Amino acid sequence: MPLKQTDVVVVGGGQAGIAASEHLTKAGIKHIVLERARTAENWRSMRWDSLVANGPAWHDRFPNMKFKNQHQDAFVPKEEVADYLVDYAKMFGAPIHEGVNVNSVQRKDKGGFVIETTDGVFEASYVISATGAFQKAMVPPIVPEIEKIKQIHSTAYRNPGALPKGNVIIIGAGSSGSQIAADLMKTSRKIFLSVGAHDRPPRRYRNRDFCWWLGVLNLWDAEANPSSTHTTIAVSGADGGSTVDFRKLANKGLTLLGVTEKFDDGVLTFKNNLTENISEGDKNYLSILDLADAYVDRNGLDLPLDPEAREIGPDPECIVRPIRSIDLYEENITTIIWATGFANDYDWLQVDAFEANNIPSHKRGISSEPGVYFLGLPWQSRRGSSFIWGVWHDAKFIVDHIQKQQGYLAYSGSAERL
Ligand SMILES: Cc1cc2nc3c(=O)[nH]c(=O)nc-3n(C[C@H](O)[C@H](O)[C@H](O)COP(=O)(O)OP(=O)(O)OC[C@H]3O[C@@H](n4cnc5c(N)ncnc54)[C@H](O)[C@@H]3O)c2cc1C
Repeated sequence: MPLKQTDVVVVGGGQAGIAASEHLTKAGIKHIVLERARTAENWRSMRWDSLVANGPAWHDRFPNMKFKNQHQDAFVPKEEVADYLVDYAKMFGAPIHEGVNVNSVQRKDKGGFVIETTDGVFEASYVISATGAFQKAMVPPIVPEIEKIKQIHSTAYRNPGALPKGNVIIIGAGSSGSQIAADLMKTSRKIFLSVGAHDRPPRRYRNRDFCWWLGVLNLWDAEANPSSTHTTIAVSGADGGSTVDFRKLANKGLTLLGVTEKFDDGVLTFKNNLTENISEGDKNYLSILDLADAYVDRNGLDLPLDPEAREIGPDPECIVRPIRSIDLYEENITTIIWATGFANDYDWLQVDAFEANNIPSHKRGISSEPGVYFLGLPWQSRRGSSFIWGVWHDAKFIVDHIQKQQGYLAYSGSAERL
């Protein structure tokens, strides 16, 4: 197949790839975006049916286009988020080649990269890996395949009707796990939720959404440092959006459990850390209220007091006396949903841009392999990096870097002494 040449190949046509393409287009840099499926595919096929964005429409978007036909405070359904990204890409004519899988990227001997794809071979001076932070479903090897119990990752959950009849345990209580639990609680099934360490900001406080609070408090822009770890955030925009309150969910029938530890002969056991995890989540919640109050005072804002927000209800029985083990068969549990996050998948990126365990080696997305960039990683430069509004700014930084490099390379003099 003929070799195709361009300056930059962007791998992945999700929001990260689109943001990169917008900045490359503005900078007049020749590029293509290679996407193995459709634009914004993962918003369509890796999420459950009832998912809405975790932040309101005014916030969870790129700076240069608003959501059409949406109230600014609405939580946009996931298909419309995907439609928005497709429209956004069309707005500036992003050169996205859909249905093209990148099989490998390798360094050429004398500069640049060769990119082997299902649509032939490309050559480029720069490669941006925009395959995101949520690449490969991660399921810890705790429960072997067992008869009569379906095990799926949260990316494969669609709706309650698609699961076998019977009760469900969800393992992991970040945004995915807690939202899937709430979705399933609308049925008559008994639902169990294994809760690990989490942050749980207030959905609304003093007439502002938590996205606003994290913004003005400079927490979305908190910079990455070596100790920046990804603590899962339990938030939800479902049903108009409300604070994830595990006590309230338990009072409605959800059984809370500690971190899932092991499985033996049909019995799942849990660490004795439910009380601690819930209480740490409360501390995080209250700390945001404290920061918000201090911000209001310091800036003399006219935002109404909200003392009810500080009322933490009584602990339900499952927190007072945590259940340490359950027999899946006795409890008629027929489905385990692993809401346990994601792992990297960089087999195709065969360059010197990784630390041990395939972890990207980079500073703000500029990798240790000159010419290779990462985009959309958690904490790539700041807390907001893997989210819609954050990736756009990281993309700008990366494209600026490419443009500067091109500027140096365009120099054609001979460093004459004049
Ligand atoms: C359940 C869930 C809900 C979320 N909700 C929100 C939210 O409300 N607000 C928010 O801001 N963020 C949210 N996020 C976080 C983040 O915004 C999304 O995960 C988003 O999809 C990440 O965009 P991305 O472009 O970085 O990666 P992705 O959307 O995953 O896009 C990567 C693309 O790369 C393609 N690709 C991968 N490998 C190759 C290859 N070898 N060749 C060619 N193409 C390839 C994939 O097909 C994919 O389309 C959510 C995440 C999850 C998991």
